[in-house]
Amino acid sequence: MIRPETIEHVRQAADLPAIVGRYTSLRRSGRGFQALCQFHDDHDPSLSLWQGRDGCWRFRCFACGAAGDSIAFLQRTESVSFPEAVRYLGDLTGIDTGTSVEPNQARVREYEQQKQWRDKVRSFEEWRSEAFRHYGRQLDACEERLAFWSDIAKTAFEAGIEHEESSRWLGQLYDERQWLEYRMAVLHEGTRQDQLEIWNDEWIK
Ligand SMILES: [Zn+2]
Repeated sequence: MIRPETIEHVRQAADLPAIVGRYTSLRRSGRGFQALCQFHDDHDPSLSLWQGRDGCWRFRCFACGAAGDSIAFLQRTESVSFPEAVRYLGDLTGIDTGTSVEPNQARVREYEQQKQWRDKVRSFEEWRSEAFRHYGRQLDACEERLAFWSDIAKTAFEAGIEHEESSRWLGQLYDERQWLEYRMAVLHEGTRQDQLEIWNDEWIK
């Protein structure tokens, strides 16, 4: 028999995103996360995870209606009973439920790793939108300079003058524009691997 206050304690401490992260990857969404639903054949992430005001994480699928807290999630994904799910979470969170024999150390380690990754997901997603805006501003500035030097080059051409400076600038600016557009495309819709490369190459000093 697990004491009701212990159940509540476990429910509060359980990090649902770290648990869901074992089954599928998470996508940041506002203050919560979105993931592929484990309870129906999901192709577009319809499972939302959010932390309630009471501190407990909850899930809800907008497609199949599955909903609940961390205990319910484990009961369904691991096909275990309520007390077993509570004990499982007690092992993960280090809370003594009075029923554990020997916590599964590999599982606890994995849970801790998932928790770390989820914090990284948070900062990574924030970085991604910040970087996208940053390259966007640079692209605007680049376009302005391109227009400026194009005008000069055009005027010079019409006057039959060879204007080396503008040709040099235009060459550089076309390259820069291509470089910025490529980065923005990767940040917008590229693979996670390509995004991480930009992060590592240009932002981690
Ligand atoms: Zn579902």
